Amino acid sequence: MTENGWRRGAAAVATLTFDVDAETPILAHGGRFADHPMVMSHQSYGPDVGVPRILDLLADLGVPATFFVPGWVAESRPGLAQSIVDRGHEVAHHSYSHRAPTTLTPAEERADFERGLAVFAAQGIDIVGYRAAMWGASRETIGLLAEYGLAYDSSLMGDDKPYLVDPAVVELPVHWSLDDWEQYAYLPEPFIGSNIEAPSKVEEMWRAELDGMRRFHCLFNVCMHPFLSGRPGRLLALERVIAYAQQCGDVSFARCRDVAAWAKGDPSIEHRPSPVYEIDPAVYPD
Ligand code: ZN
Repeated sequence: MTENGWRRGAAAVATLTFDVDAETPILAHGGRFADHPMVMSHQSYGPDVGVPRILDLLADLGVPATFFVPGWVAESRPGLAQSIVDRGHEVAHHSYSHRAPTTLTPAEERADFERGLAVFAAQGIDIVGYRAAMWGASRETIGLLAEYGLAYDSSLMGDDKPYLVDPAVVELPVHWSLDDWEQYAYLPEPFIGSNIEAPSKVEEMWRAELDGMRRFHCLFNVCMHPFLSGRPGRLLALERVIAYAQQCGDVSFARCRDVAAWAKGDPSIEHRPSPVYEIDPAVYPD
């Protein structure tokens, strides 16, 4: 690994990402939930309480992060996106409405994508990256990113280090094991999960994955949600994971946009186009 490779000499690169979904994943289940105060407050806790606390923690530890924000959230909380950028972090595109592209028609996906971009443009937020809602990228998603000149996507799982997808977009891959949703999401109606795991378990899992990623030179791309990981005991577990990574001495922290730029200039990164599968409906009916 040269100093010019995507890791810039580190054994592993950590991208701390926070998806500031707020009320949108619930409203995607049905607008009627707007009239359910417990459910709405469970979600508004994310931007209102979690985000300021997370920003202070990141400042204390001196590490950058990337915040994926749905356009609806940025629009309904003017100043939120700018307050994140002002602290030295990146704001990236996380759809407008947080409906998964795989559940939309191509025309609906395009309209939602463009509406989100328009919100950030109106607020003067420079956008270079995207993450599909629920990681549900469609066959059209990467083409939309390329059409609008975005540098990277962070929704797919074809590797554990950056790779190139067609047409010419850097993928910063995710995985369920590095997502706090599977550990902490509990809400019976609408059902978003039934998990309230111990923060110590999550800390142990993520430390183990980081150790593996230092050995195999990967992207430690952690996906968190302020309404989940912004809660007090969970934030302390995150603080311990970050402190451990810093003590290792061979892990660097970067914004997604920086890793995407480094990967773009690294001729050694893999090209993994999404294959078109020939499906026999007699064998695999819809
Ligand atoms: Zn999300």
